[in-house]
Amino acid sequence: MKMKTDIEIAQECTMEPITAIAEKAGIPDEYLEQYGKYKAKIDYNFLKKSQNKDGKLILVTAINPTPAGEGKTTTTVGLADAMQRLNKKVMVALREPSLGPVFGIKGGAAGGGYAQVVPMEDINLHFTGDFHAIGAANNLLAALIDNHIYQGNELNIDPRKIVWKRCVDMNDRQLRFVTDGLGGRVNGVPREDGYDITVASEIMAVLCLSKDITDLKERLGRIIIGYTYGKISEQKPVTAHDLHAEGAMCALLKDALKPNLVQTLEHTPAIIHGGPFANIAHGCNSVTATKMALNLADYAITEAGFGADLGAEKFLDIKCRMAGLKPNAVVIVATVRALKYNGGVAKADLNQENLEALEKGIPNLMKHVNNIKNVYGLPCVVAINAFPTDTKAELDLVEAKCKEVGVNVALSEVWAKGGEGGLKLAEEVIRLCDEPNDFHYCYEEDTTIQEKLDQIVQKVYGGRKAVLTPAAQKQAKQLSDLGFENAPICMAKTQYSLTDDATKLGAPTDFDVTVRNLKISAGAGFIVALTGDIMTMPGLPKVPAAERIDVDAEGKITGLF
Ligand code: ADP
Ligand code: MG
Repeated sequence: MKMKTDIEIAQECTMEPITAIAEKAGIPDEYLEQYGKYKAKIDYNFLKKSQNKDGKLILVTAINPTPAGEGKTTTTVGLADAMQRLNKKVMVALREPSLGPVFGIKGGAAGGGYAQVVPMEDINLHFTGDFHAIGAANNLLAALIDNHIYQGNELNIDPRKIVWKRCVDMNDRQLRFVTDGLGGRVNGVPREDGYDITVASEIMAVLCLSKDITDLKERLGRIIIGYTYGKISEQKPVTAHDLHAEGAMCALLKDALKPNLVQTLEHTPAIIHGGPFANIAHGCNSVTATKMALNLADYAITEAGFGADLGAEKFLDIKCRMAGLKPNAVVIVATVRALKYNGGVAKADLNQENLEALEKGIPNLMKHVNNIKNVYGLPCVVAINAFPTDTKAELDLVEAKCKEVGVNVALSEVWAKGGEGGLKLAEEVIRLCDEPNDFHYCYEEDTTIQEKLDQIVQKVYGGRKAVLTPAAQKQAKQLSDLGFENAPICMAKTQYSLTDDATKLGAPTDFDVTVRNLKISAGAGFIVALTGDIMTMPGLPKVPAAERIDVDAEGKITGLF
């Protein structure tokens, strides 16, 4: 039998009207803004009015990813459906997929198999227009900057030191570096410029960390767009507020700030909202979405991007700190295939049983388990996302290793079976939510940038220390002089390794992490530490997924995955 694709499975689902999902979730009519039959926005004012007590917060994270993706979203959705089957009041909070990668290699990001959120075509394509609004706000600021310079540059902005880029939600490498303002005096001031993909815009991070519209506006005003002329010691940051931009930007974002309601294949309410990059930003859905899910349900399940060294670290050290959230349990997703990959097996040979390689790769899982339990003090379970090629001996080995450190393993078959395949995982998660919880951050904010970086490298990555290049040392000094010393750190590092070298798999020790660049995202409120060249505008592959996507005369989309 031919396996059904994700979109075929999604299209077979008879969705419930979004009003029914809202009713099930307990969202009063007055706060629901319908976007067609199966999507709606929830007014953030609901958060102010609601009296419900907070539910339990569950984070889904993973081992270091391999090129295929480990199934975090799939597990998040399936776990929620399983909890619903156990008659729990549960809600999912996820990121919105970025449009660009849908047409490249990655495809969509609405879960997979029988654990998906629907309508998957809409969620993966324009959805409710949030990303377009973010792009518009980003590009409004860009236009205001260049217009200010054109009109006489009262703020003395050095065009060579503008850090604000334009953005578009498309994988378009052609736009990474551009020269604009060409064509003579009336057509602008020529300068080197560039584009990021929309999810890499600081506005995305700002929107996702904002509590409400007032907070959003203040954060937008604090965004640094560039610096004035002069030596590094004399340069002054120029903000969006200096350009009087935050009011209009916020006006463009007023609806984008409202979380989006959809459903899973099994009609569990799901909030999908915001999608910041997981490298130069913090990589999880909006604070408003998480808070709303916690408010409405007894269990709110959310996902953080990449592996636990990046995604969970930032979720816990940035988002939870800024929003005052406290997780109750953590699910660490692993696949036998990915563990074998971490043990040195080539991608093409992952389907063969290989206990030796598995044993070599398991330390990667153990390091993340240890971090969640001991660095952060949170109860956790390992979810093995089952693939047909996994053998019993392999699964037993993973389970035995986790038992040694007192962590349970649950085989998750949600991709193949939906909620039914996640019941064991759900039972364990429910149990963990009542376990003792000693949550603390990896580092304190009110210490030096170097100290914070060292803490992350030592505790979370298992390395020796962070080494700042001379350029990064200068930037660290400048950031402290500007008053940003106490901001949390947002690490931009390869997701494939615990180190800053993508080829070092497993759980390396005795390594330093080189920080090459430090920059402040003053609106988001964190310092971005770049350990290498981080791509903020992806490109398309030789055969883009776009070539297979089509729509028929009835408007039915095919080829999306
Ligand atoms: P992540 O959130 O970790 O990036 P996803 O949940 O989006 O991963 O899954 C990545 C891809 O892998 C999806 O296309 C999904 O359909 C597929 N996938 C996930 N789990 C399984 C599984 N158990 N078997 C086969 N394919 C899977
Ligand atoms: Mg995902």
